[in-house]
Amino acid sequence: MHIVMIFIAFVLVVAVYYLAKIVVLQQEQKADEDVLKAKNVYQEIINQKDRAIKEKLRLEKEASQIFTLYEMTRDINKSFDEAQAFSIFRRKVRENIPNAEFEFMDVSVEKLKEIRVDKEWTVFPLRNKDHKLGYLIYKGVAPEDKENFLILCHQFALSFRRIKLYRDVESLATTDSLTHVHTRRYFMDRFKEEVERAGLRKSQLSVVMLDVDHFKNFNDQYGHLTGDRILKRIGQIIKENIREIDIAGRYGGEEFCVALPETDLDGAVLAAERIRLAAQEAVIQAYDHNIKATLSLGVATFPNGGRQAEELLDNADWALYRAKALGRNRTIVFGRPITP
Ligand code: GH3
Ligand code: MG
Ligand code: MG
Repeated sequence: MHIVMIFIAFVLVVAVYYLAKIVVLQQEQKADEDVLKAKNVYQEIINQKDRAIKEKLRLEKEASQIFTLYEMTRDINKSFDEAQAFSIFRRKVRENIPNAEFEFMDVSVEKLKEIRVDKEWTVFPLRNKDHKLGYLIYKGVAPEDKENFLILCHQFALSFRRIKLYRDVESLATTDSLTHVHTRRYFMDRFKEEVERAGLRKSQLSVVMLDVDHFKNFNDQYGHLTGDRILKRIGQIIKENIREIDIAGRYGGEEFCVALPETDLDGAVLAAERIRLAAQEAVIQAYDHNIKATLSLGVATFPNGGRQAEELLDNADWALYRAKALGRNRTIVFGRPITP
């Protein structure tokens, strides 16, 4: 009996021991699971933090892109000149993408062919609706900078188109559509400026007035369209025989004026004679006709030939009238004795 009791007690103790062990094991397992869960939660928080940092960097980059674009757009829109617009674009690209190498090219197919051979360069065409206006060529733009760079290129292209459009409109307002020299109004504005400048700087300035001889006969003989062609060619001849700084204008129907800054009387006679001889030598092709036309020219020089724009033009016109009276196809100078 005693032994049985002892055995039962032993069995109970063993049972309690194993039961306790099971409970402890279960608690340990739960604790492990809790630790694992906590680890996962912690990892998720770390991941979220990383994502937030990345998103913050992305937003900062985007904000800086937008700000750069805003700054460039603001600066570039103030410019009415292609070279100035490009220099603003260049400054902005250098600040943001220092490794990029790029060039701006006016439309020049030859040079473009050369560049296409060199595969390193990428070509970004600048175009309006109808035709190409020029190119940006670039290299050394890292893939991560490409998007930003192209956004700047597109913005430059937009400004470039605006500047070209502005120039076209300006040129329409100041250029005679038939002869492609300046309109009378533009000529007068510029000529007055030049007279003022000559007065202030005590520099030389001359004006030539010229008129096509017997032009009415061409109209009568060949018709107005042919007459127009002749005037167009005369406009070309004038432009081909003056300097960049000279200003040519259509004064009336078949009458033209040329202002010659920094030019004394002898220089003006040389220029007038160059134009006269070029016209005399030219065979003007107008439709089916080969036409020869001559010019009469009058020259006046600041200040002896007049101190005001109108006075100078009147005196050049007087000299032109004398040239007509003396037989046409000649140059007469206001204030200089006429030699036979
Ligand atoms: P002169 O040697 O004395 O200058 O003789 P002219 O015949 O050239 O002179 P006139 O002033 O009598 O004639 C000028 C003509 O130019 C008259 C006008 O019909 C013509 N004309 C003016 N403007 C134009 C134009 O835009 N196109 C054409 N085809 N003719 C024009
Ligand atoms: Mg005439
Ligand atoms: Mg006339």
